[in-house]
Amino acid sequence: TQELLIKSDKLSAVGQLAAGVAHEIRNPLTALKGFLQLLKTNNEKEQYYIEIMQKELQRIEFIVNEFLFVSKPQATHFVTRTVDSIVMSTIELLQPQALLGNIEIAAEITPGLPMVSCDEHQIKQVFINILKNALEAMDQGGTLRIEAEPDAYGHNITIRFIDQGCGIAPERLPKLGEPFYSTKEKGTGLGLMVCYRIIEAHGGLMQIRSKLEEGTTVEITLPSTTTNIHKGVSE
Ligand code: ADP
Ligand code: MG
Repeated sequence: TQELLIKSDKLSAVGQLAAGVAHEIRNPLTALKGFLQLLKTNNEKEQYYIEIMQKELQRIEFIVNEFLFVSKPQATHFVTRTVDSIVMSTIELLQPQALLGNIEIAAEITPGLPMVSCDEHQIKQVFINILKNALEAMDQGGTLRIEAEPDAYGHNITIRFIDQGCGIAPERLPKLGEPFYSTKEKGTGLGLMVCYRIIEAHGGLMQIRSKLEEGTTVEITLPSTTTNIHKGVSE
């Protein structure tokens, strides 16, 4: 938990900075995109250059948006949900990428999970980020397991994403969730940071275990709504 606390300190510092920067970048970016769209040419080479510029602008926009997501205290809109529906819709979303990578996604979800109070959009964002990382780590294909189960009392729900990817060296584990820490050529290093933030705002916990060359397990624990504790026990 001490590690988690330190991480969240870092988040608020970078968050403030990010808010300012991202906001200032957005307006000129919109102008650039707009004028670029107006450029027309019959020259093939020039057309190619324009497309590169459009792609790169898109990339800037992606990073800026991710920034804004991290920095803004998101207006959280809590609703009561079971996580299984969120897990399933996330899988659906990333199924094409999994198929391309020869990866089977196997979900084992305990039926009748207790409810959690959560911002559905944000929790989905977390699941997408984690699932994407898992898919990106499994360049040899394989099986990605997703488990969701309540604890014995139904107080908490644990969701595990277990991949068979490249794994993470022990000395790199503490770096995860730090802003801009990425080992990917096209990575932003903001995905896990967003995840830690959101899970923390939900009163939950996120832990990452990994073994090099074997795979990584990301475990998220979320408190279930108290009204359903009883149900959780009896089922
Ligand atoms: P990004 O995906 O943009 O690199 P993230 O914050 O999502 O940023 O992840 C940070 C880094 O953590 C990744 O670059 C990668 O090195 C490592 N990582 C995260 N998830 C996994 C995983 N499932 N398997 C292996 N490495 C991972
Ligand atoms: Mg990522």
